[in-house]
Amino acid sequence: MLGPIRVAVVGMGKIAHDQHLPSIFGNADFQLAATVSSRGEATGGVPLFRTLDELLASDTAFDAVALCTPPQVRYALAQASIAAGKHVFLEKPPGATLAEVAVLEQYAKAAGVTLFASWHSRYAAGVGAARAWLAGRDIHSASIVWREDVRVWHPGQAWIWEPGGLGVFDPGINALSIATHILPRPFFLEEGTLSLPANRAAPIAAMLSFRDAHGTPIAMDLDWRQTGPQTWDITVETDAGTLKLSKGGAELYLPDGEHKSEDHEYPGLYARFAHLVKAGESDVDISPMRLVADAFLRGRRELVEEFHD
Ligand code: NAP
Repeated sequence: MLGPIRVAVVGMGKIAHDQHLPSIFGNADFQLAATVSSRGEATGGVPLFRTLDELLASDTAFDAVALCTPPQVRYALAQASIAAGKHVFLEKPPGATLAEVAVLEQYAKAAGVTLFASWHSRYAAGVGAARAWLAGRDIHSASIVWREDVRVWHPGQAWIWEPGGLGVFDPGINALSIATHILPRPFFLEEGTLSLPANRAAPIAAMLSFRDAHGTPIAMDLDWRQTGPQTWDITVETDAGTLKLSKGGAELYLPDGEHKSEDHEYPGLYARFAHLVKAGESDVDISPMRLVADAFLRGRRELVEEFHD
């Protein structure tokens, strides 16, 4: 491909503004070509469309889309983009079901375009070094604690409580995207409990127990009712001591002290997307989403107090 990849951003919500636009403007491999916003939110001095179909019917030239909508509407947008020969960057989680993501992967392959299922937390500052340090170690156990205040981080996001919105697994899947990346062996759900507010379709908390093929226990504690200090920690006990990732992977503590490196979550994702487009490849790892799907499949439900924004 000659020149920058001309990308249209679809769904001008929090993550589009906070991360996608700055990462596109900060990467010479990309050029913002258009935005699609159902509320008609203009930005970046580029053409604005109310729907993706309007953009596709226009004479605006573009090569790729970044789909920043909630997951429930992502399949139709991705399908239409692939049909039009566009490369597709999927926000996490890559869809509302595993099967629709598998369909998209096949469809992109047949169309010869790139499909990128992004997991931003894998690009957090400490994650690469954590993965390298754990490779080849004897893992005794791991613990994931993701406790945050939903009123602070997801105010008014009705979609997140609907089927396919994942509830507390919307942040929890970030933890699983890190764990599946840094732990040397795949793991699976043994048992779990999902806590559902009586007035909502998605869990507000979950306690899960996983195990890998060597029997290593991995515990996960997700809770959206946390006020005060917020926790996004992964702790791994090994034969060489304790590894701790804090702040969602931004901080890494090893037995010899803290290891610092640059945060590059969304710049890292866009660098990866550019690489995939240039190489004519796709990257669709569904392993974090499969674990979440298994939690919904295998977990016991308990009803808890109603939640009101
Ligand atoms: P958001 O603030 O609610 O924005 C989503 C945007 O998508 C809306 O503003 C809307 O934009 C568009 N949209 C299209 N169809 C929609 C529908 N049926 N319901 C609601 N919005 C619809 O959500 P977000 O926090 O940006 O999250 C979007 C995706 O990014 C999610 O999959 C989330 O997991 C992921 N993500 C979020 C964060 C974060 O910190 N917030 C971090 C990483 C990843 P228009 O009105 O412009 O059409």
